Amino acid sequence: MSPHTSASLKALLNKRGFRLTPQRQTILYVFQTLPQGNHLSAEDLHQILRRQGERISLSTVYRTLHLMAYMGILRELELAEGHKHYELNSPYTEHHHHLVCVQCNQTIEFKSDLIDRIGTRQAEAEGYHLLDCQLTIYGICPEAMQRGWSRTLPEGWRCSQSQQRLQRSDRDSDSDMASRG
Ligand SMILES: [Zn+2]
Ligand SMILES: [Zn+2]
Repeated sequence: MSPHTSASLKALLNKRGFRLTPQRQTILYVFQTLPQGNHLSAEDLHQILRRQGERISLSTVYRTLHLMAYMGILRELELAEGHKHYELNSPYTEHHHHLVCVQCNQTIEFKSDLIDRIGTRQAEAEGYHLLDCQLTIYGICPEAMQRGWSRTLPEGWRCSQSQQRLQRSDRDSDSDMASRG
């Protein structure tokens, strides 16, 4: 799914004067192996790296994510209020938008020529060079409504449940490996 291999990325970064350090490579690998539709905040990524035994501080994770977004490797998303999420970047024509459930943080990715055209038209009308166009739609998913969860925006919503979901999926893959091994 990733538009870059480590080698092609390395070449690209070197050309721009950046280095793909082992730490950045590790972070890139986390994003490359992320199931589709998953997006990580700095806190999510920090937790994953720590579980993998990496010794890295949260502030280094923040800095590295910013840098990798600046390099064009990662795409910065405003999915939740208060903090940013990241995913692998891809060419503009491959860009997608997000539908987010504010109760369980389930995120659905979708593409839309219509939205892309509006973005292009708007940027061109103002003489801008277009870099990215993201639409995020917030709602309550069918499962959450079925469970009778509130249909209003949770107070102080910070997308903290995405961490619990990550922990759950991590535990699942652990038990997977145990049963296979
Ligand atoms: Zn996405
Ligand atoms: Zn939901």
